[in-house]
Amino acid sequence: MGDVVVVTGAGGFIGGHLVASLRARGHGRIRAVDIKPFDEWYQHFGDVENLSLDLNLRGNCEAVAKDACDIYNLAANMGGMGFIEQNKALCMLSVLINTHMIQAAVEYGANRYFFSSSACVYNGDRQKTFAAPLLKEEDAYPALAEDGYGWEKLFSERMCRHFHEDFGLYTRVARFHNVYGPCGTWDGGREKAPAAICRKVIQAKASGRHEIEIWGSGDQTRSFMFIDDCLKGISLIMDSGIEEPINLGSSEAVSVNQLVDIVEDIAGIKLKRNYNLAAPKGVNGRNSDNALIKKYLNWEPSIPLRTGLERTYAWIYGQYTSRQKASGMAVHSALVG
Ligand code: NAD
Repeated sequence: MGDVVVVTGAGGFIGGHLVASLRARGHGRIRAVDIKPFDEWYQHFGDVENLSLDLNLRGNCEAVAKDACDIYNLAANMGGMGFIEQNKALCMLSVLINTHMIQAAVEYGANRYFFSSSACVYNGDRQKTFAAPLLKEEDAYPALAEDGYGWEKLFSERMCRHFHEDFGLYTRVARFHNVYGPCGTWDGGREKAPAAICRKVIQAKASGRHEIEIWGSGDQTRSFMFIDDCLKGISLIMDSGIEEPINLGSSEAVSVNQLVDIVEDIAGIKLKRNYNLAAPKGVNGRNSDNALIKKYLNWEPSIPLRTGLERTYAWIYGQYTSRQKASGMAVHSALVG
């Protein structure tokens, strides 16, 4: 067994933060892998081994698993509701990454394997009310997962279970509920609600057009977990004896309208709300039941939404203003030659 800690999806939001936290915790040999070219990674560290590889391909997964002790598999084709409702086949194709990566983990004798699942595995019938139903781990069955993305996650969860049972692989599976924070997707179509709302509020403020489009009625409820809680949970779950998939999410549920209220308050503005009832909106209500994680770990995510949103808003504001400056400079140099 080697001593390399592998993070896949390291050019993305959670993977980038995970590499940063593993470095901070003093891990000597980290291998960070993503399909994206390096200049598109949210975080890129010169002192780790960075690889730009397509993990749909088995040979690449084998190269990545060589000398690995721990593998954190976070690579996936994913995005917010707008993306997953319109790209079901692409979401299901993440099964190639998850199949090849777990096979390579066994083949190369990795010590531990972490899989990032999702609250999208839960049965849709249990998420029909706006009253933020608490989802317990057992509520994934009988299975009626989110079409495409959720079914792939549920299948790959079960693969982890059977790789443990049949091949003795140490697997840990966390079902993330809406993770948000700085250094993640905030525009382009794959962004999730907190980042999208921060961006829309910033744009409205900057343009003087004080309106915001909200997808659905705004009554949909969700919980949102700040990235620092997510990282702590990943580490605790990886080191734990928890062999079954477990919720990793905040239990502070809010409606989308309440989410907008908070971001407006941070921005110091009130906007006219235009509801787009035809837009993708996902299930009506969802919250994380944290009884099991509290039982096992005596811990649950606890960073208040307002605190996390302040930090997220500030980061997106910085990204937005530097992009505006860069495009202003490009226009200026085009005009002056
Ligand atoms: P992200 O899109 O920012 O990161 C995923 C990364 O995987 C991307 O950088 C992407 O380029 C990479 N990737 C995609 N296909 C690849 C391939 N073939 N080979 C190599 N890399 C590939 O998303 P994220 O929010 O950081 O999510 C990380 C993981 O957590 C994913 O598995 C996601 O499904 C899961 N998850 C996230 C959330 C959330 O709210 N962010 C919720 C539930 C589950």
